[in-house]
Amino acid sequence: MNNYDVIVVGAGPSGSTLAKLLAGSGVRVLMLDAESFPRRKPCGESLNPGAVAALGRVAGYTNVEQAFDFPYSHLNGWRVVSGKTTLEAAYPKGDFGIGCRREVIDQWMVQQATRAGAIFEQRTRVERLIWEGDRVTGVVARSPEGRPLTIRAAIVAGSDGLRSVVARSAKVNRYGPLRKAAFTMRLNGMQGLSGKVELFTGPHGKVIGLAPIGGGQANMTVALDSNQSSALAGRERSAYVLQEARAIPELFDRLIEAEIEGEVLACGPFDRPVLPHFIEGMVLLGDAAGYYDPLTGQGIYRALRSSEIAAPALLQSLQSGRSEPIRQFVVDRNQEFAFGTKLQHFIERLNRQPLIWRSALRLVGAVPLLRNKLAEVIGDCPKEAQPCIPVMKSP
Ligand SMILES: Cc1cc2nc3c(=O)[nH]c(=O)nc-3n(C[C@H](O)[C@H](O)[C@H](O)COP(=O)(O)OP(=O)(O)OC[C@H]3O[C@@H](n4cnc5c(N)ncnc54)[C@H](O)[C@@H]3O)c2cc1C
Repeated sequence: MNNYDVIVVGAGPSGSTLAKLLAGSGVRVLMLDAESFPRRKPCGESLNPGAVAALGRVAGYTNVEQAFDFPYSHLNGWRVVSGKTTLEAAYPKGDFGIGCRREVIDQWMVQQATRAGAIFEQRTRVERLIWEGDRVTGVVARSPEGRPLTIRAAIVAGSDGLRSVVARSAKVNRYGPLRKAAFTMRLNGMQGLSGKVELFTGPHGKVIGLAPIGGGQANMTVALDSNQSSALAGRERSAYVLQEARAIPELFDRLIEAEIEGEVLACGPFDRPVLPHFIEGMVLLGDAAGYYDPLTGQGIYRALRSSEIAAPALLQSLQSGRSEPIRQFVVDRNQEFAFGTKLQHFIERLNRQPLIWRSALRLVGAVPLLRNKLAEVIGDCPKEAQPCIPVMKSP
């Protein structure tokens, strides 16, 4: 007998969204996370307009800002700097993103899920899937005290991020060719912060992202080819990352009074595709379903959106006992993200060729229509026609 209808592995944006929508429909949901919440997560900490709108839909607020009871900053567009070339682009009128600490927004979303009735167990690491023939029927996890746990459910949702154990256990994870690592830190005293996400690009695919995250702080994330960063620890890591940032002339001045608060988090590589698959009793969401590169800052939107469209499919599947709705969800999700994924690959490749990259920035910057369209597409800006996908109530 199943203990739960759905086990959600991972309580990041995709896990909490799925847990919230399903539990709100009467589904018995258990959400497990290996970490103790609130926890930090290596991230540029900027949510684009699409992510902010999705948060509102998921949490049930027309004006999601009314519900935010934590510090955050408004973001109204992008600024990209490469050498002496600068491109600025604003989101369409009325659309905005936010810069916000991940531990705060993720905890807020976990609360949305538990208030809707999901059970949340933290410090509980999933180790592998349980199979019956070709079907996934549950997970083996480790309790906070180190006890092995066997938990069964009709569906296991892998929302466990880049290094997904669920994807690994299903043997569908792969390593892509792009080998980049990133270092993420919080800065006090950073000068010249605006309401824009700023990207400073340098040689060999180096990208430094900067965003205000509320309370006068900034997030700085430095992404480099893995072979340039190697394994760095502690104080050495902070010095190295600051040195990389100060090599950009504009940042040198703006960083003069900046101080790092807390730990510098490292992660990578990010290029983690998954094989096309369909496995009975299992679905992958968010980064676990494949990730490429953080340059365009769309990961949180995708995590939220993929779970938003997965929830009705999972509910239908539970009610009918058929797997077809989940199969269809995978097709719909891949279709919805296909253009954005191609654009991400194109932008990353372009950024590796400085002369072409700068010409492209100048060209886009000179044509307002192009500039605005790019901000709209990368911002996943909500369209009038994109309704909240309703989740049916269970009988
Ligand atoms: C350097 C960097 C910068 C980024 N910057 C941005 C940005 O500015 N804006 C943006 O939109 N996106 C950004 N992203 C992408 C964004 O962080 C992710 O796309 C997003 O967090 C995906 O959400 P998720 O719920 O799929 O996974 P995650 O947020 O990674 O959550 C996964 C959860 O699963 C848990 N977990 C993992 N393994 C297990 C296990 N075995 N058992 C139980 N729990 C487990 C983890 O503890 C974690 O809480 C960035 C990514 C990187 C790497």
